[in-house]
Amino acid sequence: MAAERSAAEQLATPVQFLKGVGPARAELLERLELHAVRDVLFFFPRDYQDFSDERDVEQLEEGKLQSVRGVVEDIDLRNTSSGGCVLGVSLRCRTGQLRAIWFNQPSMRDRFQFGQRVMFSGKPKYEGLVWQMTHPKVETLDAEEEEPATKILPVYPLTEGLLQWQMRKIVRGTLETYMEVLDEVFPEEYLQAHDLWPLSRALPQVHFPDDQESLDRARRRLVYQELFILQLALAVKRRQQHDQRKAPTLEATAKIDARIRRLFPFELTAGQERAIAEIAADMSGPIPMNRLLQGDVGSGKTVVAVYAMLLAVAHGCQAVLMAPTEVLARQHSLTLDKLLADSRVRRAQLTGGLPPGRRTALLELIAAGEVDVIVGTQAIIQEDVSFANLGLVVIDEQHKFGVRQRAVLKHAGLDPHYLVMTATPIPRTVTMTLFGDLDVSTIDDSPPGRQKVNTYLANEGQRAKWWDFFRRKLREGRQGYVVTPLVEQSEATRAASLDETYETLANGELEAFRIGLIHGRMSSAEKDAAMDRFRSGEIQVLVCTSVVEVGVDVPNATLMTIEDGHHFGLAQLHQLRGRISRGKYAGFCCVFGDPQTEESRRRLGAFVSSTDGFELAETDFKLRGPGNIFGTKQHGMPPLWIADLLRDQSILEEARRDAQALTTADPDLAREEHTKLRQMMMARYGKALDLGDVG
Ligand code: ADP
Ligand code: MG
Repeated sequence: MAAERSAAEQLATPVQFLKGVGPARAELLERLELHAVRDVLFFFPRDYQDFSDERDVEQLEEGKLQSVRGVVEDIDLRNTSSGGCVLGVSLRCRTGQLRAIWFNQPSMRDRFQFGQRVMFSGKPKYEGLVWQMTHPKVETLDAEEEEPATKILPVYPLTEGLLQWQMRKIVRGTLETYMEVLDEVFPEEYLQAHDLWPLSRALPQVHFPDDQESLDRARRRLVYQELFILQLALAVKRRQQHDQRKAPTLEATAKIDARIRRLFPFELTAGQERAIAEIAADMSGPIPMNRLLQGDVGSGKTVVAVYAMLLAVAHGCQAVLMAPTEVLARQHSLTLDKLLADSRVRRAQLTGGLPPGRRTALLELIAAGEVDVIVGTQAIIQEDVSFANLGLVVIDEQHKFGVRQRAVLKHAGLDPHYLVMTATPIPRTVTMTLFGDLDVSTIDDSPPGRQKVNTYLANEGQRAKWWDFFRRKLREGRQGYVVTPLVEQSEATRAASLDETYETLANGELEAFRIGLIHGRMSSAEKDAAMDRFRSGEIQVLVCTSVVEVGVDVPNATLMTIEDGHHFGLAQLHQLRGRISRGKYAGFCCVFGDPQTEESRRRLGAFVSSTDGFELAETDFKLRGPGNIFGTKQHGMPPLWIADLLRDQSILEEARRDAQALTTADPDLAREEHTKLRQMMMARYGKALDLGDVG
């Protein structure tokens, strides 16, 4: 009997037992990750169709969102002279005719049948005697569908074999039967104080809103809840970290500070100074540092990391620097070799290429505390290395791997301080959520005398001219890169396309020059050798893939050709370009590409029109959405269901403040009125954030 089962049991009822769902449809729902009643209740629409302003054709006004219903009378798909196509669909309506058109969406054709009843929603225009809508939203008025009770209809994600009206019916039925079982997580006074609707009101309205205002209020409640629970988890996590207080205290005394600075061949920029001050403050205390250092490519993050490492070493601790690639690890080793040439700091490089014997010997030295600074790739360092006295871990180019992995390097005794670095500027909303347990330092300037990179988007017709220019600069003594994308195919094919580029250039445009090749399938010794030849100038042009040379620093290289630019993401393009703005000569970057989608056109357009990494990151964020850039999964965090980090910034700030206030007042969420919040937080984030001992 339903009444005798607990709320939790009822909400766990398998979808198969819902009204209108049998075994077959249940299988479709499973594909959407809808297993139980609770999943269906919280299956949020991905969009809405607003039919609230429905009119007859003769009442239409230009430029306002309105809806018109009618019968499909004509369907007409034709190709245009420029290679695209136009689909036209005419509706016969009660008092006239309406025409809708779609550009370059031939598959829309299949959505229509003659005689079908539909509703179009869009902003109409009067075009030569007929009202027309471009790319309107379409609602099929199936005979089976009941007249909607509301005029703003939810649009759910679907799967093959499941229709929109069926999904709506399932959700509506589930709401009717199970809504009253749902528990409120917030105390009544809390809802009032924060101007939030109760769940019992918000949930039905987020699915089937009465009007736009109700939808906004309902959504606000649910977004707030989602972000609040997340911020609560992050606040608890942060407090736990603070409570541990097991990090070595590494104070930057005046004497240590002076000794470190003497090693730097240049004045630090204001941004570097600020970052160093923040890091030194963190490291001077027993709470493990958890800091993200962000700064555009070439802003000089490495010396900041070196400062932190030497600070650890000055106190007799070991420091580790982890890079995403072997090439970058090697480069960091070289940088340290140069800076520390006259110092007694003992260094080691731990990468994949080491012969087993040397590796074992090195591991023993590290375990015995006879090495101070260890540089290597992340995978290698995590494998089986034990440290005598690890004080600091620096992870370079953080965006390449997940945040949560950093927990791995803990060892018995003290917790090391952590510094993670990224050149992909991360919007504040994201640092506050995905990286919510990190403090952030930003280097917002760059070393003096930096030249800007001139960037061009070129078509095939301009190739000869670009290579002319490229050759001229090579003759002036500069060096250059030719970058080809890693197309998602087998390793073998990737190398082939790179080889092809290499062969074509070596026997063609760049015949007269010394060209080298570097790719992921080479052994680390081969990669090192190729990079060294490029660094020394023996090789003038390096043909490579994007992954290999992240972070490479060769100031004399000022030329870059990017092939198939549309295959690269915006952050990646900017990273690549960062390779050629590192010295006193101006850089020149030419992108060839064949953008097929609007998004990739805008992406390449944005790339050539700005060299500001922060601006590009914002653009990228807007073009692709936060989820796609900073995949929550990649960071080991559960996805957000309803909140949109782009749109819901102000709710996020509010939820964060409130979560902090609540954990200040009730650190363990032990008060009875917070029990449900604590349970929800643990259910959702307990594992991901390793909140172990709470609740
Ligand atoms: P990124 O932030 O991209 O990792 P790097 O740390 O590799 O940048 O620095 C880029 C280049 O700028 C390096 O050649 C480095 O030696 C140089 N550099 C860093 N800081 C300064 C400075 N304050 N003045 C002059 N050159 C600097
Ligand atoms: Mg770097």
